[in-house]
Parts: sequence; C-alpha cells; structure tokens
Amino acid sequence: MKIVSKQVILILTVTIITAFNTVTSQTLPDNVAKIDENVYSYSLDGEYFSMFIVTTDGVIAIESINSMHAKGMIAAIRQITEKPIKYLLHSHNHWDHASGGQVFKDAGGKTIAHVEAFEWMKANKGRDMAVPDESWGGNRKDITLGETTVELHYLGMNHGLGMTVFLIPEQKIAYIADLVTPHRVLFNIVPDFNIKEWEKSLETIINMDFEKAVYSHNHNTNPLNGGLKQDAIDNLQLIRDIRAGLYAEMKKGTNPMTLPSTMKLPKYKDWAMYDEWLPMNIWRILLDEFMGPFPWRPNHGYQDK
Ligand SMILES: [Zn+2]
Repeated sequence: MKIVSKQVILILTVTIITAFNTVTSQTLPDNVAKIDENVYSYSLDGEYFSMFIVTTDGVIAIESINSMHAKGMIAAIRQITEKPIKYLLHSHNHWDHASGGQVFKDAGGKTIAHVEAFEWMKANKGRDMAVPDESWGGNRKDITLGETTVELHYLGMNHGLGMTVFLIPEQKIAYIADLVTPHRVLFNIVPDFNIKEWEKSLETIINMDFEKAVYSHNHNTNPLNGGLKQDAIDNLQLIRDIRAGLYAEMKKGTNPMTLPSTMKLPKYKDWAMYDEWLPMNIWRILLDEFMGPFPWRPNHGYQDK
C-alpha cells in the first residue's frame, strides 16, 4: 500500500511538473527564450539579440537595437510580467545596437550608457538614436534592482566606444555585444575593433565568473538560447589562428598581399560567413600587423585606470 501511494505521488509530481513546463513554454512569446530564472533573451530578426531580467522591483533590459526591436521586446516583456521597466542599458555606441532608446524612455525606463558611448551618441545622433538619460565612468558600475545585481564592466578600447560587458554574478550569466559571436568568423572587415585590445578583453572575459551568455550576434544552432564561455575561448583562438597563419606563410617567403585570397583555415570552414568574410578578416589582421593597433586614442580622463 505504501509503495502504491509512493507511485501515485511520483506520477502526480511528474504530471504537475510536465503541466507547469507546458504552461511556462506556452506563455513565452516565440522570439523569447528563458536563459535562467527571470533572465530572458529576445530577438526580432534572428540577427540581433537582447536580454532582459525580471526582478521583484521591475525589469532591467539590455540593448535596445532599434525602435522596431525595442517595441517588440517591450511587447514580449509585457507578456511575461506587469512589472515596470526600470532600465535600458546600452552596450556601446554603434547605431546598429544603441538605437531605439526613446521607446524605453517612453515606457518609463531610464536609459544608461558608459560616458564614452554617451559622448559619441550626443555628437553623432543617428536617425533612431536617443541620447541616454544617464552615463557612468570608470571601469565598473553595479545596478541593483530587487534581488538582482547587474555588474557593468568597461574593459578598454576593444570595439566602438564605452563597450560594456554585463554580468549577473549570482546566476553566472553575461551579456556580451560584438566581442564574441559564436560560430561565425570575425565581423566583415572587422570595423572599429582594436585587435590587440580586443584580445586582452577576451582574456578578461574568459576569466570572468560566468557560464552562460547572451551574445548580441550568435550562429549557434539555437541562437535564442545564448551560448557558453567556450564561445569566447573559440573567438580568441580564431584571431590567433589568423595571425599565426599569416606569420607562417610570411616566414616561407609568401607575398603577404596574396594571403587574403589564398590562406585557408579549414578548422573554421563550417562557421558562418567563412567564404564571404575570412578574406576580409585576413586583410584586417594583416593591416594591423603592418600598421600597428588602430583605432587608438590616448586616455582623455574618462577612465579611472
Ligand atoms: Zn558594434
């Protein structure tokens, strides 16, 4: 009799858990994935990914992208919680990531960017870009809402201006824009990346205490589900493999100017944009090796290094 009742309890438990899971997945909008408890990723088009965190005191959203994406994200948030949207955090200055801030301001959120991004956004207003409500300086800021703390890390002049890596230490989750893109070669002509600083930042990221990440671009099989720290390790390795490949050929006496069209890295042949962009990636690393790191600027006092 005792055994039977145990079985009944087990069946009931399984049924309840299954029902709960079904309801949970049914209530999530199509373009949203749950990364962890109260942490979600959102994408409108499958190319740009944002993250939002639902705390007991309201919502923290990261990366507005543009007005259409921002409106879609707010609609998705509203399907999950009634809680007020308190913050929209920008990762860096580029128009294709930092537009759409006005939509969050109109929804009652405070928009925040690192001061370097903030200054650029003031000086280079894109058609769909709103100057953030607040800026922050130095290398680190924490934002706490309800029970959740989000760490904002500025790691240097790796890509764009004011590039911020976001970390939820309690849940070991990161949000990383542009610095890591799983299973894709480097972006196009690798624009506005200081390669050496980028490598330093990737080393710092790899040493950070996180397991999962939402990456702003992602070519994993299920990109809405984010990625792992391993993606950052793989990204750094690709940069180093391109450079090592260049030096190996130049050592043999090969004309370096022929290498962008002849050098292959078969290890990455299944990565997105391998045929299209690898030659441009090689040009960019080659130019960096010839000319020295660019873009670069002296420290104008925005940092507290
Ligand atoms: Zn960018």
